[in-house]
Amino acid sequence: MKKDKKRKMKIMVSACLAGENCKYNGGNNRNEIVLKLMADNEVITVCPEQMGGLPTPRVPSEVRDGLVITKDGRIVDAEFRSGAAKCLQLAKRLQPDLIILQSRSPSCGVKQRYDGTFTGTLVDQAGVTAQLLMENGFRCLDVEDLVTVQRGFKR
Ligand code: SF4
Repeated sequence: MKKDKKRKMKIMVSACLAGENCKYNGGNNRNEIVLKLMADNEVITVCPEQMGGLPTPRVPSEVRDGLVITKDGRIVDAEFRSGAAKCLQLAKRLQPDLIILQSRSPSCGVKQRYDGTFTGTLVDQAGVTAQLLMENGFRCLDVEDLVTVQRGFKR
C-alpha cells in the first residue's frame, strides 16, 4: 500500500532566522531548527524592517509610547509600519499555516520587545509586525517557543 505523502506546511519566517544578513548590525539569527523546517516545508522569508525601506546595517530601534525610534533619536515609525503592512499583505495573499518570528525584536517579537529606553528592559508586548499579523488572525510563534516544542518532542 502506498504511504500518504505528508502535507507540506506553508510557513512565513523572519529572514534573519533563515540566515539572511538583515539584522540591524548586518548579521543574522540563523537557527538550525528553522533551517530544518525550511528543508521540509514551503517557506516564505520576510524582513519587515528592510521591506519598510530601512538599510542594513542600521541604527537599532525600539518602540516607545507606541512610536518606533532609533537609538540616536530619529522617528522610524512610518518605515516600521510600512514593512508590517507589506508582511500582512503577503500573509493575506499566501495564507501561511504558521508564522515563526525572531524574539524580542521591535518588529518581529511575538511575546516581548524592549521598552524604548535602550536599557535592555523588556515588556510583555509584541513588535509592530507581529502585533499586526496577530490582530489579523495569523498564528505567530516566537522562535524560542519553537525550540521548546522541539525539545518536548525529543523527550
Ligand atoms: S526585522 Fe525581523 S526579520 Fe528583520 S532582522 Fe529584525 S527580527 Fe530579523
